[in-house]
Amino acid sequence: MNRNSETEATVLALKQIGEQNRLVTLFVPKDGVITAVLYGGPKSKLRAMVSPYHRGRIWLYTDTVRKSCKISDFDVQNFRPGIRESLFKTWAASLCSELIIKTYAHGESVYKLVQGFLDGLDIAQEQRAKLGLLRFLWRYQCELGLQYNTTTCIQCGALFSGFKPEEQAVPLQSGGGFICPDCCKNAGKTAALMNSVSIEGIFYLQAIENATPQEVRLLKISQNTFSSLQGFLFERTNKTADNHLKTLETSSIIFK
Ligand SMILES: [Zn+2]
Repeated sequence: MNRNSETEATVLALKQIGEQNRLVTLFVPKDGVITAVLYGGPKSKLRAMVSPYHRGRIWLYTDTVRKSCKISDFDVQNFRPGIRESLFKTWAASLCSELIIKTYAHGESVYKLVQGFLDGLDIAQEQRAKLGLLRFLWRYQCELGLQYNTTTCIQCGALFSGFKPEEQAVPLQSGGGFICPDCCKNAGKTAALMNSVSIEGIFYLQAIENATPQEVRLLKISQNTFSSLQGFLFERTNKTADNHLKTLETSSIIFK
């Protein structure tokens, strides 16, 4: 049985198939990641509409015998032109897209999270967008149920609020939490030599989980905390996708 359907959708990626057509990867609220074929040459109006990170209402035609799905129309409600204006923003959007595809994201709340991130990338200044990327990556971990204990040391139970912001805690490789500065000293490990996160950084993660997005956007963190959080979040994110995120391989070019 063939059928026509329509849904809200965000374009994630395009791949050329043959001379005229494209295979389009879409993110939709209900089914997550789906693919559909876009027919038409360079002059087709629809082809200009179906472009990465555009969001809108899409009409699909599914042929169940040929097991194919084609795009019949796309009414773009948000073009997000700002994403194409900066190398960092384009890179961050492609990291988001790759993460969604490789973790088979689905569900209304992840869809909403991704829209908030891409909308922010579109309009924010680049420095703010970099911090926005870190918030997105942590929220994504929380959506997957992989968040860490950001209140107490995973080993001795000490409250992180009892330490100075610049002291360093070490994330457990197996996940779940951080080892406090005291436990690191007792174990004879120098936190500075390991991939550590400052106490300020742990508070920032806590705020992302508990405060409103408006409140967190107003928080400032030091450059050192930013770098340590970036290292931690890139590593966790890559792990989530079985260390296969190609976009992250080029992160050193973006974060010079
Ligand atoms: Zn401890």
